[in-house]
Amino acid sequence: MGSRSGKEEKTYDMIVLGAGPAGLSAAIYGGRAQMSTLVIEPRMAGGEITLSDRLDNYPGFPEGIGGFEFGMLLEKQAARFGAEMFSTFVESVDTEGKIKKVITSAGVFFGQTLIVATGTVPRTLGVPGEESFTGRGISFCATCDGPLFREKTTVVIGGGDAAVEEALYLSRFATEVFLIHRRDTLRAVPYLQTKLTENPKVTFLGNTIVKEFKGNQKLEKVILNNVADDSITEISADGAFLYIGRIPSSGFIDGVEKDSQGYIITSEEMETTIPGVFAAGDIRRKFLRQVVTATADGAIAATMALKYLGG
Ligand code: NAP
Repeated sequence: MGSRSGKEEKTYDMIVLGAGPAGLSAAIYGGRAQMSTLVIEPRMAGGEITLSDRLDNYPGFPEGIGGFEFGMLLEKQAARFGAEMFSTFVESVDTEGKIKKVITSAGVFFGQTLIVATGTVPRTLGVPGEESFTGRGISFCATCDGPLFREKTTVVIGGGDAAVEEALYLSRFATEVFLIHRRDTLRAVPYLQTKLTENPKVTFLGNTIVKEFKGNQKLEKVILNNVADDSITEISADGAFLYIGRIPSSGFIDGVEKDSQGYIITSEEMETTIPGVFAAGDIRRKFLRQVVTATADGAIAATMALKYLGG
């Protein structure tokens, strides 16, 4: 792969991969500590939280804050401290030498330290119709596509915080929302479960799995299997939103220790098994994946990167 002219001449003190809350917090701390900092992100800055209608539990915002607005504020703050942003897709990293190389579709970038904050991508079900109706009724983002389903019927698949939160959000637009979960008990926190039971538009279908998505040009039906009695039913639905968990985006980096799912294993100081390479946010194996823990990880990772550089 050819080098990109200009940027590759420079060796940054710190290259951050991913511009979600963890990556941008690292950039804020790195920039403020006067480390030359580059953040590489293929999509919009702010990360997944920008796709959330509301961030309700981040300390300091008693009324909550819009996910998009929060992401934009983080980016602005990182820029204020001098962090550079570059939009490209990271193909691989070479962490062998003292200088780490980031190989992207726009060329090679060099950093003395690397912070991996690439987060996760949505898991898919792998059932017939899922791929062909994605973008034609099936969506992974209620905030983006929910308003398209005004006065329509939608289903949400999953039983965690994300599924419940987004089912509640969709109920603002849809006539009816079915929350489909493979077990009879939800994983979501009690607060969200209470809000769900209070919402007359949402019907919970437990012990239920999706067998197939059907339709013509667009999604029309979801075929369901009740695993308790093995019965098959179908619901007419215009939209289906999948929130069945996430997969870590760590495939581009070898050499660091990962768990069986691909989450990067770090010390409490965000150190990976490669000196000078740190991981922060949802990409880490950790107990609590929340924005507040991601920002804290980013701060620690940047502080450790500074220490690694002798600061
Ligand atoms: P999650 O907590 O891992 O939940 C995934 C859900 O999908 C589980 O209910 C799981 O079922 C189900 N599932 C997994 N694979 C499936 C499959 N193949 N078929 C059918 N169902 C399947 O994921 P999440 O809800 O995306 O949340 C991810 C993290 O973000 C969590 O740490 C969560 O707390 C956090 N989050 C927090 C908030 C908030 O605080 N407001 C909002 C969103 C997300 P089982 O229950 O049977 O395993």
